[in-house]
Amino acid sequence: MAASTAVRTRATDRTRATDDVRVAAPDPAYRLFDVAVRRVHRVGTSFVRVTFGGPQLPAFGAGGHDQRLKVLLPQGAFDLAQAPATDWYGWWRALPDADRPVMRTYTVRAVRPELGELDVDFVLHGVAEGHAGPASAWAARACAGDRVVLVGPSAPGTGRMWGVEWAPPAEARTLLLAADETAVPAVCAVLEQLPAGVRATALLEVPEAGDVLDVRSAADLTVEWLPRARSQGAHAHGERLVARVREVAARLVDEETAAAPAAAEDETGADEGVLWDVPEQAVASGPECLYAWLAGEAGVVKQLRRHLVSEVGVPRASVAFMGYWREGRREGE
Ligand SMILES: Cc1cc2nc3c(=O)[nH]c(=O)nc-3n(C[C@H](O)[C@H](O)[C@H](O)COP(=O)(O)OP(=O)(O)OC[C@H]3O[C@@H](n4cnc5c(N)ncnc54)[C@H](O)[C@@H]3O)c2cc1C
Repeated sequence: MAASTAVRTRATDRTRATDDVRVAAPDPAYRLFDVAVRRVHRVGTSFVRVTFGGPQLPAFGAGGHDQRLKVLLPQGAFDLAQAPATDWYGWWRALPDADRPVMRTYTVRAVRPELGELDVDFVLHGVAEGHAGPASAWAARACAGDRVVLVGPSAPGTGRMWGVEWAPPAEARTLLLAADETAVPAVCAVLEQLPAGVRATALLEVPEAGDVLDVRSAADLTVEWLPRARSQGAHAHGERLVARVREVAARLVDEETAAAPAAAEDETGADEGVLWDVPEQAVASGPECLYAWLAGEAGVVKQLRRHLVSEVGVPRASVAFMGYWREGRREGE
C-alpha cells in the first residue's frame, strides 16, 4: 500500500470526471499471466465472453475503464516455462515464426481478483463467412481448459502506462462515446464506472440486433444501439455510426460557441496514417462541457473525428480517437 499512496499521476488527475478515487502506483511492469479458460458464454449474436482464470490473476493490475491487455495464443513448440520474468516482448519477438504466439489486443471487460478471474468479450468477426482472424477463430471454438497467456500490468493504476486511455478532463459534463463492436466492451466498462451527475451518450454500431447488451450506469445515460443487420446486407460498416454521430453532434454542439473548424489538417491529408490520438491535456468544450471518445475501425473513427473537429469545430483537445482495427489488415501489419 505504501507504494500505491505515494504518487498521484497526471493521468489519474485527468480522470476526475469519472470520480475515480484510486491512487496510481508507480509505473507498472508488464508481465505474462498463464491462464486457462474457465467459462465461455455467448453474450450476443457476435460476442463471446471468455472467462479466464488462474492462480496468477489476482496479481493482474486492473485499472478499469477501457484498459487493454494482450492475448497470446500459443502455437508450435511455445513453452511458457521458458519465458523470462522481464523483457517478455524481446523474448516473444525472438521466437521462431512457427512457435511465436499470435498476439492480439483486447479489453479487460471485468476482473474478479478474489476469484482469480478476468473476462474478455471477443467479437466473432468473419467466423460465419469462413475468414476469421486467428483470435476470432480461437474465441469461436474456445472451451474450458484451453490455455492462453495474457499480458498486462503488474499493479493497478489509471493512465496510458496502464493501457487505460479513458481520461476525460475534470470539467467534462457531457460525454459522447461512439464505437463499433470491437470497442463495445470498452464502452460498457467505462459507462459502468461513470458517476452520477455526468451525462453520457453512447452510440454503438454492432453487426446484428442480437448484439444489444445490457449496460448500467449511475450516470444520466443514453445508449443507442445501431445494428448493421449485416445478414440482410442492410448497412456498410460505419454507415450508421457516422450518420448518427453527425445528428447527435449537431444537437450537442452550440455553433455559436464552437471553435473555428480545424479544416486544414484533413484537407491537406496531413493526418493520413494517424489512427490514434488521445489528447494529453484534454479540455471539455462549449457550454455543454463536451468530451468525445471514438473507437473502432480506423477509417471510420477518422471520419468521425474529421466531422467533429473539421466540420463542427470541436477542439482537438476534446476528442480522443482510437483505431482499434483496420479493414483488410491483420493486427500488427
Ligand atoms: C485497445 C484495443 C482494444 C480492443 N478490444 C477488443 C475487444 O474487447 N473485443 C474485440 O473483439 N476486439 C477488440 N479489439 C480489436 C481486435 O484487436 C481486432 O479486431 C483484432 O484484429 C482481432 O484479431 P483477429 O486475429 O481476429 O484478426 P486479424 O488477424 O487481426 O485480422 C484478420 C482480418 O480481419 C479483419 N478484422 C479484424 N477485426 C475485425 C472486426 N472486428 N470485424 C471485421 N473484420 C475484422 C482485419 O481487417 C483483417 O482483414 C481491440 C483493439 C484495440 C487496439
